[in-house]
Amino acid sequence: MATINDGAAGKERSLNFLEEIIENHINTVDSRIHTRFPPEPNGYLHIGHAKSICLNFGLAKKYNGLCNLRFDDTNPVKEDVEYVDSIKEDIRWLGFQWAEEHYASDYFDQLYEWAIELIKKGLAYVDDQSQEEIRLGRGTVTEPGKESPWRNRSVEENLDLFARMKAGEFADGEKVLRAKIDMAHPNMLLRDPIMYRIIHSEHHRTGNRWCIYPMYDYAHGQSDSIEHITHSICTLEFDVHRPLYDWFIEKLGIYPSHQYEFARLNLTYTVMSKRKLLQLVTDKVVSGWDDPRMPTISGIRRKGYTPASIRAFADKVGVAKRDNVIDLSLLEFCVREDLNKTAERRMAVLDPLKVTITNYPEGKTEMFEAINNPEDPSAGTHQIPFSREIYIDRADFMEIPPKKYYRLAPGTEVRLRYSYLIKCEEVVKDSEGNVTELRCTYDPQSGEGSSSDGRRVKGVIHWVSVPHAEEAEIRLYSNLFIKEDPNDVEDGKTFLDYLNPESMVVRTGFIEPSLKEASVGDKFQFERVGYFCVDPDSKPDRLVFNRTVTLKDTWAKIADK
Ligand code: ATP
Ligand code: MG
Repeated sequence: MATINDGAAGKERSLNFLEEIIENHINTVDSRIHTRFPPEPNGYLHIGHAKSICLNFGLAKKYNGLCNLRFDDTNPVKEDVEYVDSIKEDIRWLGFQWAEEHYASDYFDQLYEWAIELIKKGLAYVDDQSQEEIRLGRGTVTEPGKESPWRNRSVEENLDLFARMKAGEFADGEKVLRAKIDMAHPNMLLRDPIMYRIIHSEHHRTGNRWCIYPMYDYAHGQSDSIEHITHSICTLEFDVHRPLYDWFIEKLGIYPSHQYEFARLNLTYTVMSKRKLLQLVTDKVVSGWDDPRMPTISGIRRKGYTPASIRAFADKVGVAKRDNVIDLSLLEFCVREDLNKTAERRMAVLDPLKVTITNYPEGKTEMFEAINNPEDPSAGTHQIPFSREIYIDRADFMEIPPKKYYRLAPGTEVRLRYSYLIKCEEVVKDSEGNVTELRCTYDPQSGEGSSSDGRRVKGVIHWVSVPHAEEAEIRLYSNLFIKEDPNDVEDGKTFLDYLNPESMVVRTGFIEPSLKEASVGDKFQFERVGYFCVDPDSKPDRLVFNRTVTLKDTWAKIADK
């Protein structure tokens, strides 16, 4: 089997089935490769679309070809320019640039002329049956359909009626144009499929110029053909549509684009259908399409994901011919891997416990140098103030520690990251027995990794200086759904019955002062805690951070058990 070099990692991997098809095309038909990404502008793009984008643009790039962006805007009722704009923004953000920008609606005239051509060839007719009659007349998988009483109208009558449909003489649903194929065809989609329906509705681009609109099957293949698309790649559910795709192209004798199908991306704990995502937005379950808990590209971006991490994810998922479900932890793994290389380290305490260092002079401030990114020496260092009062995370203290607990406990010693060794001398509690403060001593000889007598301490914990720290809002996200497959609903329930009530937990934390200068979108690793990103809701005196992902792979750990 042929192999290719997988970029910088130098790993060889086999060609996927689409790459094999394309290489075969290059070797036997034509070296020109042209793909397209064809979103319907009826919602925001999600991570499944990102997979399709990486595939279409990626294949074009790999084989020195081109990839178009084509808006499949054939249904005026659901579509909007807001969606067109967001789709373009998302594709650019992912790092791709389309060769040509097209709209199926730009082809309405051409499609109309082709419909007339098919009528003239006796291959299309106007049907007066109602939607329900047409549906019933289609038959079933085991029974053939019934021919419409209008199926054998003359060409002249069809031409006249179709022109009058276009002119607006009929109401919605009064007539349709159908392809005349075979009412007994084993593939139900070929039992005289509808080509045009009447919709008196304003279109976001063509306004009120049209009141007949082409169906997906009549528009898609011909749009591909007009653009001379060589490989029209779509998801598996379209494989039954392929014979119809080919039928129109063949009967019209136009450029032979070909359709290829791959398995759509599904993720655990995630809904991906635009209808459901729209419902989450309209029902205000989330704050909008870009809520960091949404699987939309804009949501994931706001949560702190990088384009590189999503491209890496799409690559790791690969292309399959069979439907499967990818574990959400793979997506998290990819962003963790990328941010580990690029995000600067800072200290923040999300669940503060005050520590007073009793032998440290009052009013004194000392600066320690902290490494910005151990994975990238060129990232340099920054200064962190230290003083007599600091905050540590509650999870870093235990009054009765279990074995191998290397953090702070009564009488034990721990290293403050970049700074001194401290020893817990006294635990202060309130009247209910809650720990409110620790009183510690420090070893003045132990700054920056040393100690007075060379003794070594295993635990290192993060901290911030109380008088220097800034308060910040920290939003901790987890899965939006508690059920692995929220689409699989029990009787009488909907996917909304499986929402995770703790998908967003808001904390007030303390961040080291150097973070005060951070801007929206900046990404950091809060040491020992996770990766965080500055949210657009931030105010100059109160930053808001989104948790992009935890440091440890908690999901994989659970799976290990
Ligand atoms: P939805 O079913 O969520 O409404 P859609 O398929 O109707 O999505 P389109 O705008 O028509 O959305 O999709 C544009 C392109 O993205 C199509 O080629 C489609 O096959 C592909 N696509 C959509 N969802 C996925 C997915 N989950 N995985 C991979 N590709 C996808
Ligand atoms: Mg679609």
